[in-house]
Amino acid sequence: MALQNGNTKKLDIVIVGGGLVGSLEAIYLAKRGHHVSLYEYREDLRKTPHVRGRSINLALSVRGRKALKGVGVEDHMVNEHGIPMRARMIHRPDGTTYPIPYDARTNQCIYSVGRNYLNNILLKESEKYDNVKKYFNHKLLKANLQNGSLTFLKTDTKETVDVTTDLIIGADGAFSAVRKEMMKQPLFDFSQQYIEHGYLELCIPASEDGGFLMPPNYLHIWPRGTFMMIALPNQDCSWTVTLFMPFKNFKDIDTEEKLLSFFKQYFPDSITLIGEKKLIQDFFGGSPSPLVTVKCRPYNVNDKALIIGDAAHAVVPFYGQGMNAGFEDCSILDELFQKHQDDVPKIFKEFSETRWKDCFAISDLAMYNYIEMRDLVTRPSYLIRKTMDDFLFWLMPDFWVPLYNSVTFTTMPYSQCVKNRDWQNKV
Ligand SMILES: Cc1cc2nc3c(=O)[nH]c(=O)nc-3n(C[C@H](O)[C@H](O)[C@H](O)COP(=O)(O)OP(=O)(O)OC[C@H]3O[C@@H](n4cnc5c(N)ncnc54)[C@H](O)[C@@H]3O)c2cc1C
Repeated sequence: MALQNGNTKKLDIVIVGGGLVGSLEAIYLAKRGHHVSLYEYREDLRKTPHVRGRSINLALSVRGRKALKGVGVEDHMVNEHGIPMRARMIHRPDGTTYPIPYDARTNQCIYSVGRNYLNNILLKESEKYDNVKKYFNHKLLKANLQNGSLTFLKTDTKETVDVTTDLIIGADGAFSAVRKEMMKQPLFDFSQQYIEHGYLELCIPASEDGGFLMPPNYLHIWPRGTFMMIALPNQDCSWTVTLFMPFKNFKDIDTEEKLLSFFKQYFPDSITLIGEKKLIQDFFGGSPSPLVTVKCRPYNVNDKALIIGDAAHAVVPFYGQGMNAGFEDCSILDELFQKHQDDVPKIFKEFSETRWKDCFAISDLAMYNYIEMRDLVTRPSYLIRKTMDDFLFWLMPDFWVPLYNSVTFTTMPYSQCVKNRDWQNKV
């Protein structure tokens, strides 16, 4: 039964989805003494090689770091694994480059971290708690969000498994099965949007002597107006390169000659770095993946079910905030568990009523940032505004915090970051 008014009974909680957000939430709830069962569709990723099609590395910033700190893994992820990226390194079409620092005033940076590595660390950390049980190869088929019953398919044996629990937490990503069940509830708002652009991952390998082929402490960007390419450094000195482009353009490049001439025209300096053969292999060896935005509310069904992470608010990746926002859900929930002493109805109500406006805000910002990254960064008007923002930030650091800094380097609610920017624009 769900807890009422600070009851000390420990809850049985099922988390659906053992990705980044689900595995972090499992630790937070286990730390509070609850009995957590984590059900994950895929095999234990610690036993499987990387599956192509999902970003290999991610930009970790302050919101994500705060959440990782709460479970004691921030230091390891940032100082031992993360690669600091202090500026955007812009690649012009002629191959020359120039940096635009993220935070010229205090030199704060974002960190490139491996997705699988981080997920591994979180799963490993959860093993320190006897009250976390993990079930891999379990796909949620259906759930009753009123009485807490769930049916999973064991993907290896094809058996079905029925489970009943006090609470269901859906952390099962952008195409969440838990959210699909929520959609059966009256007054559940939902919208989903695919953008016309997809992404394809390529790779710049390490140099022959095992070093980086480009300066490592940058997020490299090749902005080209209606499309762009970016590269984030990996621990093994390779780079994960992501080409974002309209699906139509991907489709038009259907021969090796067209691919090479496209790269010679727009990304000439990248050809020698990636290598012609590898470029052809990787480009034609995969197909572009879609990018989806999901907005919905409320995030709960009574005091039985809640969705978090991409299940509640998938955003396009252009602000580097999807995972960070999902991790922030976990720290906010933890604060609410503390504030309401595990009184679930109050926790779910407050989370659901307050969090959505920040998630909607980062969703819109992420959409906007694609235009900034692929186009505006090259314009003089952007550079003038950035210089002015940086100067005012330097002069009045508590008063004038530029939008990117407030989103990336503070935990100011996302909706407040937008309001801040609105009055700054007026000024
Ligand atoms: C190209 C790209 C680049 C990105 N870069 C960044 C970045 O730099 N910084 C950043 O902060 N964010 C970034 N993101 C966003 C980030 O990847 C997501 O926000 C994050 O992975 C969300 O984590 P999650 O755990 O909520 O969902 P997911 O990572 O999708 O995990 C969901 C889990 O649920 C499991 N699952 C799904 N359905 C079921 C089911 N029916 N039953 C059981 N289990 C199920 C899945 O197997 C999966 O393991 C990027 C995204 C993309 C696509």
